[in-house]
Amino acid sequence: TKKYGKNNYTVYSEELDRKTAYKLTLEKGLKTAMANQEFIVHYQPITDLSTGEIRAMEALIRWKHPELGMVPPDNFIPISEESGHIVSIGKWMLQTACAQNKAWQELGYPPFKMCVNISTIQLQHPNFVETVKTVLEETGLEARWLELEVTESILMEDTKVLKDSLTNLKELGISLSIDDFGTGYTSLSYLRQFSFDRVKIDRSFVADITQDLNGKTITSTIISLAHKLNMQVIAEGIEDETQLSFLKEEKCDEGQGYYFSRPLPANMHDLSKTPKKYW
Ligand code: C2E
Ligand code: CA
Ligand code: CA
Ligand code: CA
Repeated sequence: TKKYGKNNYTVYSEELDRKTAYKLTLEKGLKTAMANQEFIVHYQPITDLSTGEIRAMEALIRWKHPELGMVPPDNFIPISEESGHIVSIGKWMLQTACAQNKAWQELGYPPFKMCVNISTIQLQHPNFVETVKTVLEETGLEARWLELEVTESILMEDTKVLKDSLTNLKELGISLSIDDFGTGYTSLSYLRQFSFDRVKIDRSFVADITQDLNGKTITSTIISLAHKLNMQVIAEGIEDETQLSFLKEEKCDEGQGYYFSRPLPANMHDLSKTPKKYW
């Protein structure tokens, strides 16, 4: 600390205090958030890029903190992973999202998948596969309408528990996708070893399509690689026409992003046009 000038140190330390205080508030709040029903789920459609029809919805958690207001998941998911709260939060997410998908199906809309994000901590929990099985039974959702999104980074943890979990999940009949693909260092052998059905191209690459940096090269390479390995490709973060038409040309299977819809509460999705089409 001596190497900082007096003023720098003060600024630095105030910033640190503020961050620590925020984190402490979140840690404390997480203990009662579930019981107080402070979590809600927003859903974002995933569209078939050749027909414009909805193929899936991704469930995204939000936390309505009584004092802080809406806390984004990137701020509290890592903390809930450290404290272990992610296990109960994740189970609630699965239940809520599967029940919602079943409810949409019962309203008569053409069925689509529900995609739920799963943390490494959940996946490594010995009861996880059993939890998924129970949730499907309790909600009555058929396994083929559930997809679990697993981030690329977890695949670097080369453990037996993880491998067994992924294999057993596939056996239930659900599908698996790799989230944020391209940001980590997944080896090709990994993609082949587990039967991942789909790959989600990280939105940073999709954003670069418009900037014409290396975004076009990277996205088209991921698409052809995935197709050669018999996997489908979803592009995240599509915001404009340029990105959309490039991805369609490159035969990307599905797309998601503000161009189609922001994540919204279930009742704000108008699915009454059957099938709902974006063009
Ligand atoms: P993700 O799984 O990569 O989710 C996509 C994120 O991109 C979402 O942010 C979504 O709102 C945002 N997004 C969608 N379309 C666009 C677009 O066109 N432009 C831009 N700029 N952003 C777009 P969100 O909802 O804040 O979630 C952030 C992350 O938090 C997620 O990233 C996921 O890793 C994590 N997360 C969310 N819900 C859950 C959950 O239930 N469990 C776990 N373990 N993680 C979750
Ligand atoms: Ca995701
Ligand atoms: Ca993602
Ligand atoms: Ca992400």
